[in-house]
This record gives sequence, structure tokens and C-alpha cells, in this order.
Amino acid sequence: MKVVYKSTMRYFILWLLTVPTGLIYVFLNYPPVQVNWMYMVVFIVFGFLTTYYPMLRNGIPIFLVLWVTVPAFLMYGLFIEIIVMQISILAILMSSPSKLPLLQRFFINSTLFIFLSIIAAVVFDRVGGEIGSIEFWPVIIAVFCYQFIHTVFNDIVLRIYAVYKKVNSPFFSKDLLVDYAMILVVLPLSLTFYYLLKFVGAGSFLLIGIPFFFISIIIRLYNNSERINIDLRQAGDIGNGLSELLTEKAVIDQFVMKVSTMFNADYTYLFDHQDGWLELIRSYEHEKFIDIDFALLSAGQGIAGSVLEQNKPIIYSERKEWELVSKDYSPNGMQSILCVPISRNQKIESVLFLASDKKSFFDGYQLKILDLLCSYFTVSVEKARYMQEAVAKNERCALTGLYNYRYLEERLTYEMDRLKNNEINNLSVVMLDIDYFKQVNDTYGHQSGNDILYLFAKKLEVALPTGGTVGRYGGEEFVYILPGIAKAEAVEFAEKLRAEIGSHDFTIIPDLVEDKYPLVVHITSSIGVSSSPLDTDEAMTLLRNADRALYLGAKQAGRNRVAEYVK
Ligand code: GH3
Ligand code: MG
Ligand code: MG
Repeated sequence: MKVVYKSTMRYFILWLLTVPTGLIYVFLNYPPVQVNWMYMVVFIVFGFLTTYYPMLRNGIPIFLVLWVTVPAFLMYGLFIEIIVMQISILAILMSSPSKLPLLQRFFINSTLFIFLSIIAAVVFDRVGGEIGSIEFWPVIIAVFCYQFIHTVFNDIVLRIYAVYKKVNSPFFSKDLLVDYAMILVVLPLSLTFYYLLKFVGAGSFLLIGIPFFFISIIIRLYNNSERINIDLRQAGDIGNGLSELLTEKAVIDQFVMKVSTMFNADYTYLFDHQDGWLELIRSYEHEKFIDIDFALLSAGQGIAGSVLEQNKPIIYSERKEWELVSKDYSPNGMQSILCVPISRNQKIESVLFLASDKKSFFDGYQLKILDLLCSYFTVSVEKARYMQEAVAKNERCALTGLYNYRYLEERLTYEMDRLKNNEINNLSVVMLDIDYFKQVNDTYGHQSGNDILYLFAKKLEVALPTGGTVGRYGGEEFVYILPGIAKAEAVEFAEKLRAEIGSHDFTIIPDLVEDKYPLVVHITSSIGVSSSPLDTDEAMTLLRNADRALYLGAKQAGRNRVAEYVK
């Protein structure tokens, strides 16, 4: 607070030294003559309205106030021009938001504009301009110089200010071009206004005022709809991009990033909603993803929690509006906030939180666009989840969660390629089949059979050597693919596994009997082993070999044993 006060004081002193003194000096040396006070009032009203409702170009206001101040200047001279200009720029303070305190902005603007008024008037005088003259070409030339200098100095002062405030601004921009192009609009407009006043009198306020403000309103409307169009198109592009992503995480990241960029948010947080609790799942600050340790929020707690509870978007313009509501984490510079619930089928799925370091940054109209984006988001998340599930289903067995035969065969081909490329030296396949599994089903029921298959699968997974793959090849048949493991080692592994399975207590709750109590079941397994390059160098043959070893070598030899493939 002290710092702001101090710099305001500085600007006040600067203002005091220039504006009142400047005004007195101008009044004493160039006093206005024959002022029509009715005209004066209308000038002030027009000037004020022009700056209060600036035309917008891509959200940047263009102040056309010279169309009023130039005729005022040509009619009554510098002093009246300064008065009209100073009152008009008051409107800037009221209409456009800014981070600076109001008084400070007033002093800065007021000082800047009196300076511009005086410089432009001096140039007007030097190039032979005369107040009240109606000589066509001299007036045009003088007014052109007046406006040109006004624009140049305005630009220079803004640049100096930007350097002083250490803001990066491009040396040349389209906006600058528009500033200069505006001379071509304002010059004829202000001269027409001036001549009309000279020749028609008061009626010219209507003749030129009505079309000016009417066109200005239309341009504003056009600009707004143009802006909405641009936003809609951008939202559509973002939506398309989201729908192409295949994982939920990718959708979330892309959404957070794109929304942040589109709304120029300095902070973007996405909360996931689960049974009345919000969990912060993604944070993006100043164009970077960051990790924030943030406790869960319950409904009603903090800003996001309130949005969840009320199921309504919230917009704050500055810090003091939300400071008391906020919980724990809030970066120092944060001012404006836009926070919305994201729903799908009448259920709140998440809460999106956008914030800016600038005050009054977010606008109600953005809610519609955001709403659209959020629905793209939820649809894309749902689709990605579905895709992820479908992919998993495609390569996994639903009962055990192990890879299925499709995946196993693909994987085997892949490992065989690696063997052929000498990336690995050996590749073994170990195939298991549970002994007398039909009996298990018959005794304890199919459901219990399933339970055992599940437990069996978990056991195989635990035993899986690193780099290997295990899957369910069929009913009660399982396969290990073991890259880098030679036959002898694979047989050793199989033997150990067989012994473990045989001694393991599989606990099930049978569903066939009336009163359900846990029961321990023992099962054994027969195992076949085959290896590459020893037995074959073809993937499917390797599998068939292991199968043959399993049936001929293990099952037929009495079960509960390991057999290796022999040619
Ligand atoms: P062995 O292999 O020792 O010759 O005897 P087995 O009884 O295991 O022989 P077979 O291969 O003929 O029978 C396999 C049985 O496994 C048949 C089927 O009822 C059972 N089975 C296969 N898939 C499933 C399954 O998903 N769930 C259950 N509960 N049983 C299954
Ligand atoms: Mg069997
Ligand atoms: Mg079988």
C-alpha cells in the first residue's frame, strides 16, 4: 500500500507542476475568444462519449477523441481544446480496466495529454495553421501535422512508459499501423465537423454526431460478434484436437493448456470431483505445468468448493473480493478469477479454475465459450477412457487381467525378431496346463474354478522374471515368454514354479454348498518348455513345441511335471 501511495505522490507532483501551471499559462497567453458555451458543452459530451465507448480492435480500444478535440481547437484554440481533452480522458479511467490505482492513472493520463495538446498546437502554429481559419488547404495541412505529431508523441510516450515499466513491447505492430491509419479517418471527420460548425452552426452536432455514434455502435457490435466468432472457431479447433487424443491424461493436459492459452490465464487448475470432494489433478501456471501439494476440498470449501456446492460459475474481478473465501494456496499476484463447474449428464465431473494477475480480466460472455469447451472436454475424456478400456480388453483376459493369446502371439513374434537381430541370445517359452481342472469345476462349481484361475494367474504374475511376459493362452493354459533365458534356465524356472504351485494353498469359498466357508484346494500343473534358437527359430513353432512337450512329455507321463521339448 505504501509503495502505491508513494508512486501516486510522485505522479501527483509531476501533474501539479505541469497541468495547472500549463493551463494558467495557456489561458493567460492564448485566451479563448467568443466561446459558445452550448458548443462547449456538446464538445465535452461528445469527447467524453467517444472515449467512454471506445471502438475495439481485437479487444484493444481505439480512442478517436481527436474528431472532437480538433474542431474544438480550430474553433476556440488551445485552452478550450485542453479542457475538452482533459474531461474526455476522464472517461478512459471509468471505462477501461487497469491494474494501476485510479488517482495514479488520472495524474499520468492528464499530464501526458496536456503535453500532447501543447506539442500538437505548437506544430500546428509552426506549419502556418490559424485558429478560426477556413482556408481549405492550409487548414488541412496544419491539422494533418497536428494529428500526426499527436500520434507520434503518444506512441513515443507509451514506449518510454513501457521501457520504464520494463514491459516488452514490439517496436512495430499492427496496432501502431492502425493508430496512424486512423489519421485518415479522423482528419476528414474533424474537418467536416469544423466546417459544418462554421457554416451550419449548432445543427452540425446532429448532422455529424448521430452518424458518428451510430457507426461507432455498429463497429462495436461487429467487433463483439467478430470476437465471439474467432473464439468459437478457436473453441471448435480445440475440441477437435481433444477428441483425437487416446488417453485420459493426454486429454486433460491438452485441455488445461489450450484453455489457459485461449483465455490468457496466468493460472489454470483442474479439480476432479468425487463424492463431494475436489482433488487438484492438474496445475498450469505462467505457461508451465507444476506440481502443487493441495489438500482435498470439500463442497463449499474455498472458491472451487463453493462453485461445486452451488453448481454455478463464479467471476471475481480482484483479489479483495475473494481473499476471505480462498483456502490455503493463492499466488501473490492473483487477481481476477473465473471458476466453473464441468458437468456431464447433470453430474459435476470436475471444476475448472482460471485466474489472472490482472484485475477485471474475465468477462461473462466467456462463460458460454468455456461451457462449450468443457463439453468438448468431458466428451473427449469419456471417449479416451472408453478407448483405453477397449485397448486393454483387446489384449487382456477379463477374468485374470493377464495378457490374452492375441497379445502373447504378437509379443512372441516381437521377441523372435529381437532374437534374429541379435538383441537377445535366447528365447524360451514355458507353457502350463492345470491338471484335472475339469474335476475342480465339477467339485466346487464353475465360479470356484474361476476363482482358482484368478489366484493361479496372480501367482504366475508374481513369479514372472523381469523382461518376461505372462498370459492366459486359453481355458486353464498359461504361457510365459522369457527373452534372454536359455532352455536349461527356463526348465529350472519351470520346475521351481511347478513345485510352488503344487504346495500352494488356493483358498476359495465354494458356491455349490449351502453354508459358505473358505476351503483350501490343492492343484498341480504340467509344464512344457521349448527354446530358441535351440529347438526352432520360428515363433509359432516355438509355441507348438512347448505345447507338445506339455502333452507328450508331462501330461502323458503322469502330470505334475516339467518336460522340455525334444526333437
Ligand atoms: P488335464 O488337463 O489334466 O488333462 O485335465 P483337465 O480337466 O484340466 O482337462 P481339460 O483340458 O480337458 O479340461 C479343461 C477344463 O477347464 C475344461 C473346462 O471346464 C475348464 N475351464 C476352461 N476354461 C475355464 C474357465 O474359464 N473357468 C472355469 N471355471 N473352468 C474352465
Ligand atoms: Mg488341464
Ligand atoms: Mg487344458
